[in-house]
Order: sequence, then structure tokens, then C-alpha cells
Amino acid sequence: MNAPESSRRTCEECTLCCFTHGVSGSEGEDFLHKPEDEWCRHSGIGTGCAIYESRPKVCRDFHCGWLIGLGSEEDRPDKTNVVIQRFSIYIGQGASAMVVKMVEAVPHSIAAASIQAIIAAQVEKRDLVELSFCDGTRELRVRKGVYVPYDILDHCKKKNIPVIRVGS
Ligand code: SF4
Ligand code: SF4
Repeated sequence: MNAPESSRRTCEECTLCCFTHGVSGSEGEDFLHKPEDEWCRHSGIGTGCAIYESRPKVCRDFHCGWLIGLGSEEDRPDKTNVVIQRFSIYIGQGASAMVVKMVEAVPHSIAAASIQAIIAAQVEKRDLVELSFCDGTRELRVRKGVYVPYDILDHCKKKNIPVIRVGS
């Protein structure tokens, strides 16, 4: 949807987050509400946003993980069919944790070797990695020994999201 000024990568033909992610926000005079997992009515698939200059702020502010440097040049989301986000959350007592969210647009895309390599790298960096699969299931992967805040564990328990500990 956008490119951070610090990044050399640009969306080019990719529009995948205009399918995977929900959007609620003003678009000029109107209001856009687009649910997850359906194409935005303004998206020209492979050509970009038809209302680019007046797109909602949430679209302007969205920088996927690939745009900010995760994965290789070849891992652009429209090629992997996985949109990645990485951001920090406050976990109390002046501390924060990094969260990675991965959403697949096509079944079994997260299973691809290139995506598994990104997951392994981010888990190694102690990120909390949440995977969202096309069948509606989710999974949290965390390196052994990494602290997971109680409210995240509670959320996972209530939503039946398994917490998978990996590494030694
Ligand atoms: S998924 Fe990333 S690269 Fe693709 S359109 Fe969205 S922000 Fe751009
Ligand atoms: S308004 Fe534009 S940038 Fe935002 S989801 Fe729709 S097509 Fe994508």
C-alpha cells in the first residue's frame, strides 16, 4: 500500500495487502470498510490503487515486512502469497517486544521454504511470530525461553491458538 522513505523496495505490481488486510478509514469524502480476505474495490490487481492520492490513512501508513527489508528481493508478497508485518508492542515495565504477523493469501504458502526461513530468522531474533492460515487457523511460534506476556498467552488460549516453542 505504501513504501517507507528509508526503504529501497517499492510495491511495484504487488497489491496483495489490498486483499489480505481489512481497511476502515476515510477515502476523500467517503468511508471505506473493506473486510479481510477480499479485494478492495479500488484495487487494480497488479496495477495498484485507483485512489492512490486519496487512499485512507491506514493504507498510507501500512508498510509490510518485505518493504522494510524482511526476506530476499524475490520474496515480494505477490510472489510468495504471504503478507508480513513487523511491529513492536508495549509489554509493561518500560519493555517492548517485537511481533511478526504473517498472513497467507493462498493455502499452504506459509509452508514454502523461503517463508519458513524468514520465520526461523525472526524466531531466532526473539520475535513473537503469529501465522494466519487460509483455513482460519493460527499459530504462535516463539523461541524457547522468550517471555510471552500473559495477555498474549490468555488471548491464544481463548482463541485456541497453539503456542509452539522452537529451538533449544
Ligand atoms: S503487501 Fe507489501 S509490497 Fe505488497 S502492496 Fe502491500 S505494502 Fe506493498
Ligand atoms: S484504498 Fe487503495 S491502498 Fe487501500 S486497500 Fe484499497 S486499493 Fe489498497
